[in-house]
Amino acid sequence: MLGLPDRIRACLFDMDGVLTRTATVHMAAWKRTFDEFLRATDPTAAEFSQLDYNRYVDGKPRADGVRDFLASRGITLPEGSPDDPPDARTVHGVGRRKNELLLTELEEHGVEVYPGSMTYLRAAREAGLATAVVTASANGEQVITAGGFADLIDARVDGVVTAREGLRGKPAPDTFLAGARALGVEPSAAAVFEDALAGVAAGRAGDFGFVVGVDRVGQGDALRENGADVVVTDLDQLLDGGAR
Ligand SMILES: [Mg+2]
Repeated sequence: MLGLPDRIRACLFDMDGVLTRTATVHMAAWKRTFDEFLRATDPTAAEFSQLDYNRYVDGKPRADGVRDFLASRGITLPEGSPDDPPDARTVHGVGRRKNELLLTELEEHGVEVYPGSMTYLRAAREAGLATAVVTASANGEQVITAGGFADLIDARVDGVVTAREGLRGKPAPDTFLAGARALGVEPSAAAVFEDALAGVAAGRAGDFGFVVGVDRVGQGDALRENGADVVVTDLDQLLDGGAR
């Protein structure tokens, strides 16, 4: 009924782009941050693109996204510290600028959820499956609350938990493994739901029972190559048996 193998007892959902329509907000905040940064460095530099976001940034902890994208342009910044101001030319400064833009945008426009994902989340709970949100976002708790689905989630592993427990971010499987532990299931009994290439790679690396790739930006093939067992454009397709 849920479009999952019978062995699955728990669902581990990425948040941005899977449950909430916030991946686009992240992309816009990163684009503004990196384009301003690049222009100040080299006015002829190519702009930050959707492909850059998919390859180097999406799904990763904020600082890893800064480092990995800038490395792709041959730029290395000093790490700096978490207290750096948003105009500091450090990994933390760039990350802070992006987070400030993101928070302003979320404050102004709120958090939109995917109705199909909410339908699926409810169906999973009704079928007796445990649910967790596993996200690199440091704003996980606020976004879940603002999205109005906190009562449908049994556990949360977000950027705050990741930093506190010293976990490696996606594409390492650590955060999804922590989600399975929090729900008391083996990875083989848990399904991972991800829209990021780094996220489906984490699902494969952790030997999870099933990996669902959620394709919101036309990268179905790349999701499959990186670890998705099945790709859907909306979670409610799994309910109809319409998964590709
Ligand atoms: Mg995501």
